[in-house]
Amino acid sequence: MRYLILSDIHSNWEALERVLEAASQDGYDQVVCCGDVVGYGGDPNAATDWTRANVKAIVRGNHDKACVGLDDLEWFNPAARASAIWTQATLTPENLEYLKKLPRGPLPVRDFQILHGSPLDEDEYLVAASEVSMLTGYLDERISFFGHTHVQGGFWLHRTGVKRLSPLGRMDDRDDLQLDEDSFYLINPGSVGQPRDGDPRAAWAYYEPESRLVVYRRVAYDVAGAQQKIRAAGLPDVLARRLEIGQ
Ligand code: ZN
Repeated sequence: MRYLILSDIHSNWEALERVLEAASQDGYDQVVCCGDVVGYGGDPNAATDWTRANVKAIVRGNHDKACVGLDDLEWFNPAARASAIWTQATLTPENLEYLKKLPRGPLPVRDFQILHGSPLDEDEYLVAASEVSMLTGYLDERISFFGHTHVQGGFWLHRTGVKRLSPLGRMDDRDDLQLDEDSFYLINPGSVGQPRDGDPRAAWAYYEPESRLVVYRRVAYDVAGAQQKIRAAGLPDVLARRLEIGQ
């Protein structure tokens, strides 16, 4: 059994389409998503239509909430706010309803769980190993997948301390991580639609419970096509520019 783990698609159909093409060559059985289907990008309905039809388990992200009016926008920067308002006006009624009903994480799936930000607060960013070391007591599963930071990698929580799992190198498009049995893991598959780890390639991961294997993946996609949709929608240009630098 192989899970395709997606997060932070952010209305980027060009990135999602390319990831799915590569993933169908790699092979997978089921899809799970750690939230933020929409927000920032120019194709919210394509991203949500696909997610509704194909994702078995999903938790909501902060942008999913903001784009359907479940959160007020005061904590959002001007570009994120503009995209949330535009997204809400652009989503079909069916897609709005679907996003409104997404559950809050953590959500258990088989022997792992998925969440958006942190196990304690769906809107919190897990960035530093020091913040993660206090979380062990709050993790219901040894293996968790999360998103929100748009940085591929995550954390390995061992009794000797917490180690950051770095994203794979620029020249690599695949990296295997063998999980041991007595550690906790918080794994970030990276962002499909708006990577922020300095690598503009779309990011995702696989998880195989039987072999305790996580595979990180990257693929280049049609950034110009995604940028064009953001500009055609009249969204702030910074949202288009950041895609080509991966920030
Ligand atoms: Zn996000």
